[in-house]
This record gives sequence, structure tokens and C-alpha cells, in this order.
Amino acid sequence: MSTAPTVTLGDRFAREFPEMALAWQAEQAPAPRLLVLNERLAAELGLDVAWLRGAEGLRLLVGEHVPDGATPVAQAYAGHQFGHYAPRLGDGRALLLGEVVHADGEPRDLHLKGSGRTPFSRGGDGLAAVGPMLREHVVSEAMHALGIPTTRALAVVATGRPVRRETVLPGAVLARVARSHLRVGSFQYARATDDVDLLRRLADHAIARHHPRAALAERPYVALFEAVVAAQAALVARWMLVGFVHGVMNTDNMTISGETIDYGPCAFMEAFDPATVYSSIDHGGRYAYGNQPRVAEWNLARLAEALLPLFADDEEQAIALAVEALGTFRGRYDDSWSAGMRAKLGLPDDLDHAVTGPLVEELLTLLQDNRVDHTSFYRRLGTAGSGPPARELFLDLAAIDGWLTRWRALEPDVAAMSRVNPVYIPRNHLVEEALDAATEGDPRPLERLMDAVTAPYDERPGLDRYTEPAPNAFGAAYQTYCGT
Ligand code: AMP
Ligand code: MG
Ligand code: MG
Repeated sequence: MSTAPTVTLGDRFAREFPEMALAWQAEQAPAPRLLVLNERLAAELGLDVAWLRGAEGLRLLVGEHVPDGATPVAQAYAGHQFGHYAPRLGDGRALLLGEVVHADGEPRDLHLKGSGRTPFSRGGDGLAAVGPMLREHVVSEAMHALGIPTTRALAVVATGRPVRRETVLPGAVLARVARSHLRVGSFQYARATDDVDLLRRLADHAIARHHPRAALAERPYVALFEAVVAAQAALVARWMLVGFVHGVMNTDNMTISGETIDYGPCAFMEAFDPATVYSSIDHGGRYAYGNQPRVAEWNLARLAEALLPLFADDEEQAIALAVEALGTFRGRYDDSWSAGMRAKLGLPDDLDHAVTGPLVEELLTLLQDNRVDHTSFYRRLGTAGSGPPARELFLDLAAIDGWLTRWRALEPDVAAMSRVNPVYIPRNHLVEEALDAATEGDPRPLERLMDAVTAPYDERPGLDRYTEPAPNAFGAAYQTYCGT
């Protein structure tokens, strides 16, 4: 007989922010069945894997078993959705179960998505389907393996409850782990209450939890804002370097921690094109690949507006401080992106920008004009000699040969390139194939895909199909959907 391990879930957010946390219970799952469990992450969180797989563990993962002392809550937040302000969004199909301590000593939120209606559900059903929750599992874990800050996926449990979308789909709950679920929209919500004390307490909480050095600054709240600007500039640069399209960069989907959050209509770009959009509802291309840095900056301006009363008593001075801090975004983004591009091309960090700048610009034009697969290009460039050459990806061979001659003249370190240019990313057609099979009850394609994308830099035999872009028939019409 083993004794049942106890899971300790902190309730700090629920206790300290009752204005933004509604105590709530998950809906019953008629027939919970574990689809995926991230055993390594469970171990890092000190959770007993065997227990999680058992009946009580499954009930925890769908929100039915609430450990002693835990207070599951639906968090309140506001947000700009496609540029339009919505004062009351909040967890409409999610719950914060509580905080756990990671092996690194830092707290993590344990959160459920798809756990039923809450007071924030508006017209929604509070539910999530198996496919989209598995997509978040695959893509967030792939992002983590790429070294990009992100929320993590602990488990996906099928609930046995049908979910009505365009068709009837099996329902699921995703157990998500994050450094916190504080969003730009959380601050917009606090600001809109006109309770400056709440706003200050929330900012103090964010400083303590995510950006502790800001506490030492002369103006801690301006320093908090600058730290979020820096974290987001670095994050979005990382997205751009791997060709990630988030798809729904509303202010409620931008974290204070600098983690990627909310894998809805996201996808990895194949043929390089700044206008790439996958979301079925993004008609204007607001969240297209090439717009992401600008959108991040716009969202950070909304954060500055929310924090303004904390920057200075005098409004004009507060605005001046906000403008100055926001003004650091472009330089930080450009520096991160340029350093990342030099690394992708195997070029030393101290090479003169007057040399690398035009080389990179010309490359981007060539990639776009020739519709070259983003991931294959950089990987092949760094493994020249041992695989198919990068130049085969181009129609205009004279142009790429000219570029390659100039690049080689800079003596790139090709060995270093394979450590920054992934060979395996979650390609859209393979993700869809794996989700379809898993939804039909066959977990093997998902397992194989997870094997590939969780060691993305390490090329292994037998995984060739995971390196190829989608067949033409698939690519052009690919769309992903929000809120499914
Ligand atoms: P998202 O676009 O996924 O960031 O979601 C925006 C808002 O819609 C959030 O407040 C979500 O909680 C809410 N939401 C999304 N899907 C549902 C659903 N099926 N039922 C209830 N609320 C939802
Ligand atoms: Mg969201
Ligand atoms: Mg979403």
C-alpha cells in the first residue's frame, strides 16, 4: 500500500487579489481519460507521476479533486482584442488551481483550460476540444525545447464530455504551468477599477514574482515596465527567428513574465513571407508574422497607460517617463533580432553591422521572392556538405549563389549553426495529422511528433518527414481557429 501523496497548492493570488479572483469549481468530467502526461515537468514540480496517472490524480487534472487548502479561482482581466477594448474578459473556460514550487525554487501557477463555464464565460460554453488542447501541448513544449520562454503543458485529459463546434468533438482539459498568468490585460483590469491601491499591489506582486530587480530602482514601477518591455522585445525576437506566428496577440494574451501564452491560432511559417497569417479570424492581417514586433510595442503602450498613475504623481511627468521607457523597445528588439540573425548565419557577434545588415536584408528578400522554407534554409546552410544544399531551395540560383559567395567570405562557423537552427519544428500538416489521429484514439503519431520536436536541434535518423514542409495541397489553405 502506498500512502496517497499530498499536493500542496498555494493560494497566494486568490488571497491577495480577491478583487481579481473569483473562487470557482470545475465542471464534472463524466469519464476522464489521460491523453498525455509530461512526466519530466511533473517531476520538476515535485508531483508524483504514478499518483497523477491514478484516479485521484486525474481528478486533480480536471479540477474535481481540490487539495486541502487550495482555492481554485477564475482570474479577472480586461484586454484589447484586435484593437478593441473589452473591459471584462477573464477566465471564461479556465481556472487557476494554485501555485506550486518548481525545482528551481520559483513558484509556478497550475492552471486548467477547458474546465467549464465561469462567471466570465459570456456566450461561451467554457469547454475545449481534444485537438486544440493537444495542439497547445505540442507547440508549447516545442517552444520550450527551442529555448523560447513559454507556458508549459503538464497534461491533457479527455473529459468524456462532447463539445459542440462546427461538429461535435470530444472535450478535454489542459493542465498548464506558467510563471504566472499575469497579463497586460490584468493591469488594464486593475487600472479600470480606479483603485490605485489594487494597481500598486498588483505591480508589487509582479515585481516580486518576475522582475525583482525593479524593486531596487529609483522608480520601481517604471523599472517594472522597462523590464516587461525588455522581456517582450527579447521574446518576440525569438519568435521571429524561428518563424513562429502567435496569431492572436491581444493584450490579454501577453504576459508580464515574458512567457509565450495562449496557443490558439498559432503556427510555424514555412515559406518565408512577412504577410503570413493562419488565424481564420484575422482578416486584416493585424497579427501577421511581420507585424508581431509592432503589435508587441502597441500592447506595451497599453500596459504603460494602465501603469501611468504609479509612474509619477504629475501626469505629464508620468507620460514622459512612459514614452521614454517604451522608446527602448525598438532598440532592444533590433539588438536581439540582429544578434539572433548573426547566430543563425554563424557569424561572430562583433561583425560590423554595415556588413551584416545589408547581407541579412538581401537574404530576406531572396527567401521571400523564392518562397523558401524558413526552417530548412538555415538548417541546410549550416550542414552544407552532409545533406542537400540550401541553394536547391531557390529558383533564382544566380542570386543565391552570389549571396552565398559573400556569406562564405565572412568565414561562418557552420558547426555553431546547428545549435541555433532547429531541424524539427511542429510543422502544421504534421500537427494536424497527429491531432486527428489522437482524437480518433491513435496516440502514436503524436508521440513520434513529440519525440522530434522536443529535441529540435539534434538530427536523428528515421525522422526525415519531420524536416519537410507541407505538401502543396496542404499548405495554401491552412488555417487555425480561435476558441475551439
Ligand atoms: P482567447 O482569444 O483564447 O485569448 O480568449 C479570449 C477570451 O474568451 C478569454 O476571456 C477566454 O476565457 C474566453 N473564451 C474563449 N473560449 C471560450 C469558451 N469556449 N467558453 C468561454 N469563454 C471562452
Ligand atoms: Mg487568451
Ligand atoms: Mg485562446
